[in-house]
Amino acid sequence: MNDYQMLIDGARVAGEGDPFEVINPATGQAFALCPAGTVAQLEQAVAAAQRAFTSWGRSSCAERCERLQLIAADIEREADELARLIVLEQGKPLALAFSEVMGGVAWTRYAASQELPVELVEETPTQRVELHRKPLGVVASITPWNWPFMIAIWHIMPALRAGNCVISKPSSLTPLSTIRLVEIIARHVPAGVINIVTGERGFGSAIASHPGIHKIVFTGSTETGQRVMQAAAGNLKRLTLELGGNDAAIVLPGTPVEAVVEDIFQAAFLNMGQTCAALKRLYVHESQYQAFAEALAVIAQRQVVGDGLEEGVTFGPVQNPEQLELVAELVDDACAKGGQVLCGGAPLPRTGFFYPPTIVTGVSDGHRLVDEEQFGPVLPLIAYRDVEDALRRANASTMGLGGSVWGPDAAAAQAVAARLESGVAWVNCHAQIQPNTPFGGCKMSGFGVEFGQEGLLEFTTQQLLFVRKPAAQQ
Ligand code: NAD
Repeated sequence: MNDYQMLIDGARVAGEGDPFEVINPATGQAFALCPAGTVAQLEQAVAAAQRAFTSWGRSSCAERCERLQLIAADIEREADELARLIVLEQGKPLALAFSEVMGGVAWTRYAASQELPVELVEETPTQRVELHRKPLGVVASITPWNWPFMIAIWHIMPALRAGNCVISKPSSLTPLSTIRLVEIIARHVPAGVINIVTGERGFGSAIASHPGIHKIVFTGSTETGQRVMQAAAGNLKRLTLELGGNDAAIVLPGTPVEAVVEDIFQAAFLNMGQTCAALKRLYVHESQYQAFAEALAVIAQRQVVGDGLEEGVTFGPVQNPEQLELVAELVDDACAKGGQVLCGGAPLPRTGFFYPPTIVTGVSDGHRLVDEEQFGPVLPLIAYRDVEDALRRANASTMGLGGSVWGPDAAAAQAVAARLESGVAWVNCHAQIQPNTPFGGCKMSGFGVEFGQEGLLEFTTQQLLFVRKPAAQQ
């Protein structure tokens, strides 16, 4: 049960704190123990990363890319085992866990293909001005529990590609697949380049305030992101904050239900709705409100809910009991205020943290289920009469991660999508992400982007090289 260790300075080490249990959300039972590191061990990891940076930070781009390719190949080779571990700690169905691993492979290969060219700003007879991109130093990655493996890859691979050394701190709810990932990476990089420390409460804040860490890439809730930002101020750490979302989707009048309903369902319920940029509020024109609600309920009822390792299961448990409780609370609150549950609507009476896919109608802005991020398997449908009004309500949120507009006329839908206050606006799709397209939120969904060239640049600092040419060359 206890084969998991931290990795510091190239060595697997036991935590000096009391190990804690990792729970399988499908059974509610512990299936492994995770080491608990101490602040003294964090100090060792930071010191190791700083030492390793003196040479890794100066290694060639070609060398780093080659090592990332080797890492990608190992992840791919071990994909089955990694996927099973993700199911055990996170709960998602095996096929989805497998695509999480393979997504990680694709993102790693993309990082390995990226260039960091020197930009020639100006060349005249008297001077040459170049813009260089250099690594920052020690980067800490703090990850959540919903896509533990893939988000760790999104953080770690571009950081390494740019020449930084990394300390990974996974969620204490889902630390194990990240431990395995770090072990794979460590096979291909010098000691200290990648480290992982694990622990329960309080450990993340020690990282956020550590003066030896130069950047934090954080994915998690807005509330924790605010705390990270405060703690990071001491040494002006660079930050990428990928925080919560409450993505709205607007279905324009005349959208054929059958053409889009499956995609809308998937966008809302992917990973049991525990996805930052999942579709979380659906605004439907009153003329089609009932038709969409019924069609979504049919798909919801088709889902096979169960343990993600069981054959045929399409819908797993919620990852943890607190999240399950929040989902139940929001649905109960909606019902108390006149909302109607078309399907689902209560935790399943069985072991594990199961809540079936739930469609709620008769709700509107002002209901907690609409105004707050539910981050779980429930979708509220809100009727609207006028597109301008729907747009105003979609934008009336402190969050601004993603949003989408659906309609038969793509140009008309695009015109509405362009007015969404969100880091990403999709037309006739939602939550589409890929390695080469920058992704990030606005408003209280955070700042900074991941993916694409912009994402890589976030792991660098710029240095302007201004060279006055000798008189003889002028
Ligand atoms: P969380 O904020 O509770 O935890 C995220 C991580 O921060 C965990 O590793 C946790 O241990 C750590 N942490 C906790 N307190 C800390 C502190 N004071 N200082 C530093 N680190 C600390 O989030 P969660 O519940 O794991 O994940 C769900 C949230 O993440 C949702 O709001 C979701 O929308 C968001 N999320 C956002 C994105 C995105 O890309 N924008 C992606 C996935 C999840």
